[in-house]
Amino acid sequence: MKYESTRGNAPALAAAEAIKMGIAPDGGLFVPVERVTLTEEQLLSLSSLPYTERAVAILQPFLTDFSNEELLHCVEAAYGGDKFDVPEVAPVRSLTPDTSVLELWHGPTCAFKDMALQILPQFLVKAMEKTGETAEIIILVATSGDTGKAALEGFADVPGTGIVVFFPEQGVSEVQRLQMVTQTGGNVHVIGVRGNFDDAQSGVKQVFGDQELALLLAGKGYRLSSANSINWGRLVPQIVYYFSAYADLLKEGRIRAGEKINFVVPTGNFGNILAGFYAKTMGLPINKLICAANANNVLTDFIQTGSYDRNRQFLKTLSPSMDILISSNLERLLYELTGRQAAKINLWMNQLKTQGSYVVDQDTLDKVQSHFWSDFADDQETLSTIRETWQQHRYLLDTHTAVAVRVLEKYRQATGDATYSVVAATASPFKFNGSVAGALLGEAGIAGKSEFELLDTLSFYTGWPIPKGLRNLDKRPVLHRAVTDRDKINEAVRSVLLAR
Ligand SMILES: *Cc1c(COP(=O)(O)O)cnc(C)c1O
Repeated sequence: MKYESTRGNAPALAAAEAIKMGIAPDGGLFVPVERVTLTEEQLLSLSSLPYTERAVAILQPFLTDFSNEELLHCVEAAYGGDKFDVPEVAPVRSLTPDTSVLELWHGPTCAFKDMALQILPQFLVKAMEKTGETAEIIILVATSGDTGKAALEGFADVPGTGIVVFFPEQGVSEVQRLQMVTQTGGNVHVIGVRGNFDDAQSGVKQVFGDQELALLLAGKGYRLSSANSINWGRLVPQIVYYFSAYADLLKEGRIRAGEKINFVVPTGNFGNILAGFYAKTMGLPINKLICAANANNVLTDFIQTGSYDRNRQFLKTLSPSMDILISSNLERLLYELTGRQAAKINLWMNQLKTQGSYVVDQDTLDKVQSHFWSDFADDQETLSTIRETWQQHRYLLDTHTAVAVRVLEKYRQATGDATYSVVAATASPFKFNGSVAGALLGEAGIAGKSEFELLDTLSFYTGWPIPKGLRNLDKRPVLHRAVTDRDKINEAVRSVLLAR
């Protein structure tokens, strides 16, 4: 399988090259040249397999330059052993007779980013071998919280790689900060930035564009790379759990073979739900992909009207991992739905860059709406959904997943569609414990309690165990104390790498 750029101005490459490069040289995103389809027989056979083998079956047709043995190795390293705290890796829990929740948060950092960031380092190491790369790959990350920790866990002690994470010192929760500064591993560096997430991100972007530094690092045997969600190596492992959920529902007799189901996905950068779209094109029986947004509802407006407009106020919400105004992976969807018209993609992406908006043609909008439906939920609805879901079903939602549950209710009210639906749960409720405990116990119930006390409070009140990755966080040794000014990120990268 070869990969081509959505901007149409780069040569098609094998998966290993595309994964190593991350973004295409013409600024586009890599997409598979050919369509992959699974037969109904193959689909049915997944039900009897463990998650790791389901993963190999789905990944194999996309990563044809990887041998089966290599894929098995990658998948075992990512999802095997006790990396995930349940043997199913991504279990499906029944909520009501017509709704299930697909729990994607059983990995080491308690958010769905682990599903991709546990395996991306494995793909990258193999890709380096295959392409004859001898340099050590240094992953640079600017994070607003979740991605940094997931990338650290994924890359820690992976041979041939190093990782440097920058986070806004005042811009992450105490739990998120401690998750990062207590990270173990001989190849990890974590640096606080005196500034906000945008400062950290622009600093890191500047480092990627610094040709002189790149040469200097090349001389030392280093090559910088990124782990962000535009890399195909992060997208492709996310296709697996859509198939896995379907296989589990079949196995439990909740749906019949061939029956179509809906997926509801709390969406930010459009990576997760796009993987669902690819699963649909491969023959997974999906009716609608429901795109759930928070008050930063750019995607809802786009799916409803065909107009993408980022010119609006950026809102900080209780579901921070969805606080995004530019959803990068939408570019891949538009490329596929326009029948791969790179000229259109170039036009729209240029308009997005220069004016902050673009409008797609009616034909493209019709296609978008044939696969997707969208609405949003605000913070008040998020909290009431957490409370009501606990009261009615004794099931605990995090703030992101609550947005999706609320949007599913809106979908059913608006359309009357009774199709069986699966909600993607993207974070453990304990990861956003302040909001979740507040929703259940009210302001008075949480007043004066630290984030760590609230973990215990929430666990005691619900009887749900605190996930391993969040237990005793405040008792682990702090291993990373470096802090840098927002305009000194380049110097920080130099001093960390040149001193290695
Ligand atoms: C990253 C993230 C999302 C958004 O996923 P996208 O693939 O960016 O759309 C939703 N919820 C949580 C908890 C996340 O960490």
